[in-house]
Amino acid sequence: MSKKDYYDVLGVSKTATADEIKKAYRKLARQYHPDVNKDNPEAAEKFKEASEAYSVLSDEQKRAQYDQFGHAAFENGGAGGAGGFGGFEGFGGFGGGGMEDIFDMFFGGQGRGSRGSNAGPQRGADLRFDLEITFEEAAFGLEREISLYRDEQCPHCHGNGAEPGSKVETCPECHGSGEIRFTQNTMFGQMTNVRPCPKCHGEGKIISEPCKECRGQGTVKKNKKLKVKIPAGVDNGSRLRVAGEGEAGVKGGPSGDLYVYLYVKPHKFFERDGTTVYCEVPINIVQATLGDEIKVPTLDGQVVMKVPEGTQPGKVLRLKGKGIPSLRNSTRGDQLVRIKVVVPQKLNEKQKDALRKFAEISKDNINPEEKGFLNKIKDLFK
Ligand SMILES: [Zn+2]
Ligand SMILES: [Zn+2]
Repeated sequence: MSKKDYYDVLGVSKTATADEIKKAYRKLARQYHPDVNKDNPEAAEKFKEASEAYSVLSDEQKRAQYDQFGHAAFENGGAGGAGGFGGFEGFGGFGGGGMEDIFDMFFGGQGRGSRGSNAGPQRGADLRFDLEITFEEAAFGLEREISLYRDEQCPHCHGNGAEPGSKVETCPECHGSGEIRFTQNTMFGQMTNVRPCPKCHGEGKIISEPCKECRGQGTVKKNKKLKVKIPAGVDNGSRLRVAGEGEAGVKGGPSGDLYVYLYVKPHKFFERDGTTVYCEVPINIVQATLGDEIKVPTLDGQVVMKVPEGTQPGKVLRLKGKGIPSLRNSTRGDQLVRIKVVVPQKLNEKQKDALRKFAEISKDNINPEEKGFLNKIKDLFK
C-alpha cells in the first residue's frame, strides 16, 4: 500500500513551520470532518489522512524520524503505519495533541481538559505578607496582628453567588453534573466526548438572581486582621506558611495559604549566624593583662564573664547557651564574645610615669614572645 507523503497530504512544504502545519491541518480537518460530510467516505478518508499526517508532523521528534526514514519510520508500531493508526480509541494514541486541536476548533476552546474558568470549585490564591521584626523577636518568637486585604467568602450569599431567597435550580441540561457527554458515530467507531455544559457553564446549577454583594462571584475583598505566631529562632529571610489564610476559594473550593516573609532588623550590638550570636567587647590593657570580670550584654540581659589574665586582642570567649534557640529542637546556640583591647590614647604624666616604671622593671622581659620576634628582626639586619 503506497502512502501519500505527509507534507503533500497537508499541502505544505518540507520546511513548513509548526504553525503553518497546524493551520493547514485545521483547514483540512474543517473541510473533511465526518460531522460535516455525512455518508461521504472520500471525505472521511481525507480526514483520516490529514489527521495521521498531522499527528506525525506536529510532533517534533516524529517529524524528524519521518524526514529521515519516510513512512518506514512508523511501520512497526510507532505512530501507526497503514491501518495501525489507532488514534480514535478513546483519546489515547493521537500524537501531537491533534485531538485537542479538533475540539478547539469545533467547541470553541472548551475541549477536554480545559473546562471554563468559572466551572467548579477553585482553590483561592496564596498570599504573601512581608513582616519586619527585631533581632530579639526573631530569637524568642512573637505574636503579631497583621492586616490583610484579601478575598473573603461573601457573607451575604455564603459564597454560593446567589442572592439569598432567589432560586437556585439544578441545571436541566446536565442534571447538575456540569458536563455534557455525547457519543458520536464516526468512521473510526464511537467517540465519547465530554464538555462543560453550555447552559450552566459547567456549574451544574442555574442562579436566577446573582448575589448583589459579590455580583455572583461568591467572594468579596475585605480587610482582615489576623494574629500570626512566629516561632523562636526564625532568621532573616525565613518564610512562614499559615495554612488556609490566603484568598478564599471559589464555589466551595479551599482557601489558599498565607506566606509570611520575615525581615530581621540589624541589631546595634549583636550579629548572628544560625543560632550563634556574635558581639565585640572592649577592655583596657590592664584588664587584658591582669584579667578581670566584665559585664557582657546577652539576649537574656547582662551576664558577668571572666576575662583570663594575659588575654590577647581578638581572643574569642564563649558564653554557652546564650545564642539563638534552634527552630528544630529545644537547644540554644552560644554567644561568642570577641575581645577588643583598647590602647589608651591620652594618659596624664602620672600614668605615663607608672608605665615607664613598669617598662624599667620589666626591661626587655615584657613579653617573651615579643623578645623572640625582636631577635628575628635583628637577624634580618645582620
Ligand atoms: Zn455574595
Ligand atoms: Zn448544566
